[in-house]
Amino acid sequence: MQRIVIIGGGFAGADLARRLQRKLPKDWEVLLYSRENHFVFTPLLPEVVGAAINPLHVVWPVREMAPGATCRTAEVEHLDFEKQEVEYRGPDNQILRENYDHLVLGCGLDVNLDLVPGMRDHGWALKTLGDAIELRNHVIQQLERAEAEPDEDRRAEFLSFAVVGGGFTGVEVAGSIRDMLSESARFYKRFKLEDIRVNILEAGPRVLGPLPESLSAYAERKLESSGVTIHTGVSVSEIKADGVDIGDGGFLQAGTVIGSIGNTMHTLLAESGLPSERGRILVDPSMQVQGHKNIWAFGDCASVPNAYDGKPSPTLGQFAVRQSKQMAVNLLATLSGREPMPFSYHTRGMFAAIGSGKAVGNPFGIKVTGFLAYMMWRAVYWSKMPSFARRTQIAFDWAWDLLFRRDIVELSTLTTSQRHKK
Ligand SMILES: Cc1cc2nc3c(=O)[nH]c(=O)nc-3n(C[C@H](O)[C@H](O)[C@H](O)COP(=O)(O)OP(=O)(O)OC[C@H]3O[C@@H](n4cnc5c(N)ncnc54)[C@H](O)[C@@H]3O)c2cc1C
Repeated sequence: MQRIVIIGGGFAGADLARRLQRKLPKDWEVLLYSRENHFVFTPLLPEVVGAAINPLHVVWPVREMAPGATCRTAEVEHLDFEKQEVEYRGPDNQILRENYDHLVLGCGLDVNLDLVPGMRDHGWALKTLGDAIELRNHVIQQLERAEAEPDEDRRAEFLSFAVVGGGFTGVEVAGSIRDMLSESARFYKRFKLEDIRVNILEAGPRVLGPLPESLSAYAERKLESSGVTIHTGVSVSEIKADGVDIGDGGFLQAGTVIGSIGNTMHTLLAESGLPSERGRILVDPSMQVQGHKNIWAFGDCASVPNAYDGKPSPTLGQFAVRQSKQMAVNLLATLSGREPMPFSYHTRGMFAAIGSGKAVGNPFGIKVTGFLAYMMWRAVYWSKMPSFARRTQIAFDWAWDLLFRRDIVELSTLTTSQRHKK
């Protein structure tokens, strides 16, 4: 058998494995490596943090998405281009190797925890299912701490939240957290909703920079009226345990700081020696890594030139999925001796949910706002969920969210034996 090895089970890698399984010649197989055994539908992670969706409903096992592929839940630690092998650790920490005939890199990007001093120690990232579950738990714990805390100043610290970055993720997570807090505050006696502060700190002149100005202005107005304070034109110089240093000597109190900015290359790729620019692998328009005929890269980890506008593709799931479609065509063409084709895609527009049942978006260049945009936002993401089962579960979650209050149960993972060791 000849083998295509894919690294990464995200939007790019899992989708490619699914597409290839049906079309590969009989003597070819797909071997997919991913650190987690599931694909994460990241656009809905902010809703997990805000307790609008069950965490398990935004993930899907990669081996169920692509049953024809062999899936290994393992982190690839080294690439040997000379021997055409990838190296990973087995269950007993032993070093194992597998060979490839074609290697496809779809490892995404890592969060840069060193972009802002203090982020590593005091900040919260939102990238994985684990991040979303932990952050959801933490927000609920902050409410419980505030309820137990007699000192007013300390209570104010527990009840203050700051999101660094007013891009799509930052705005969505701030709106979602605010929604959960609005619905939950009434169950606590020591504080009121007015005592809770949610802030967005954006270095640029407005939030949601890639959207038209009027949509940003609408989002800012609605977020402010729902209780989110927006600070634009401020740069965060340090994240501390009790807040953030901003600008020239300013300080904003925040017991919880969520960083939605800053990506970096995975160590695997950084150490690979492959050509890169601004933290992304350099590929030619057909997504072949420059100088390597049988190595390909796509998704967030690669700077894929878009033939539609001549620009590098942005780091977005919708681009990763389109690249996967072209990647499948190109691999099949190459296996049968034909030339691969360049990637070309015109974006259909973007949406951002801003909380309180509202969103903004520009599908096909048409500006939409409010509840209509929110329903469109939900319909778009719902239709992109990878399985009918998950689509059904998400539909129930959203129906539940319309009728009932958000769930403030802390998903405790403390076991009896851990409690006894304390
Ligand atoms: C909170 C959030 C919200 C977002 N919202 C949107 C949105 O609304 N619309 C949109 O278009 N985009 C959105 N994005 C961006 C989108 O998630 C990314 O563009 C997309 O995930 C990129 O797909 P990918 O396959 O390249 O990488 P990823 O989806 O990040 O997948 C990479 C995979 O590779 C694995 N991996 C990495 N290194 C290794 C290794 N050494 N060995 C084995 N496996 C490895 C990872 O574990 C992961 O499974 C959002 C992102 C976040 C974080």
